[in-house]
Amino acid sequence: MLLEQPGEPLRPAELDDPAPGPGQVLVSVHACGVCRTDLHILDGELARPKLPRVMGHQIVGRIAGAGEGAERFAVGERIGVPWLGWACGECRYCRSGRENLCDRARFTGYDIDGGYAELAVADERYCFAIPAGQSDEQAAPLLCAGLIGYRALRLVGDAERVGFYGFGAAAHILCQVAVHQGRRVFAFTRPGDEETQQFARRLGAAWAGSSGEMPPEELDGAIVFAPVGALMPAALRATAKGARVISAGIHMSEIPAFPYEILWGERTLSSVANLTRADGEEFLELVPRVPVRSEVTVYPLADANLALEDLRSGTLAGAAVLTVAREDVSSEAR
Ligand SMILES: [Zn+2]
Ligand SMILES: [Zn+2]
Repeated sequence: MLLEQPGEPLRPAELDDPAPGPGQVLVSVHACGVCRTDLHILDGELARPKLPRVMGHQIVGRIAGAGEGAERFAVGERIGVPWLGWACGECRYCRSGRENLCDRARFTGYDIDGGYAELAVADERYCFAIPAGQSDEQAAPLLCAGLIGYRALRLVGDAERVGFYGFGAAAHILCQVAVHQGRRVFAFTRPGDEETQQFARRLGAAWAGSSGEMPPEELDGAIVFAPVGALMPAALRATAKGARVISAGIHMSEIPAFPYEILWGERTLSSVANLTRADGEEFLELVPRVPVRSEVTVYPLADANLALEDLRSGTLAGAAVLTVAREDVSSEAR
């Protein structure tokens, strides 16, 4: 499903099979998560990519081939391909454990063709083994929603009372992780969205209400998952002194001006950007111990446009995932 023009639906297209270069693997895509970032790319809100492009950066599939020198995975092995597709390894960010900030980083489904397709190629060093006990569909949203959400959760520090503003793909996974860590989750949804508030309580949230409400207790930290700038001061107002408020998305509408007094008291506003491979390894090791069970709505690849629209309108609970049905190129290898 090809992105040719921002603002236009993806188009079904037949492309040549991609060939894995040195150090790359060929992946037979089984499932690919749909992310809010894909909507920002589709809407032309991000500066790149070069078009046409195959989006999708939460790929679960099996190794169907390998380029020169790629020996990390066996043919048939199940792997995940995340957003960070490549980093330079040389810049001051890469050399200080912050490859997520690499100036030359290349991202899957953005700089590199992604997983809204039957086949993808990926640099094997940036792929992850997928924990057993997770179906392909359930594993897909772990690769961005889960993983970058996990990085955001780490950035709120040891906050016991954590607010989640927006309760979609990322928050529903992170709620399970946070509860496992002994935190209390306060879930904020669109006003009147009782269904999602119930969903949050079912996943262990201590409280759920609408984003216009104040929580019953002060928060020690908050993560803003929704791309709505006005939620940043709203979250600040709900926090105790010393709290960190983290924006977990790649794009957000403008943050309105706010009085200094709501930042006073050593409160911090920050974004979280991308992921490091270490984040991924750590998070995926934690997944079976929680255990995380992601709730997914599955669409065939051909319905990618419908999945994107459902994500936009907020009608789905949990995460949207595309599945690929085809003559399986790796079937002989399984
Ligand atoms: Zn994403
Ligand atoms: Zn770098």
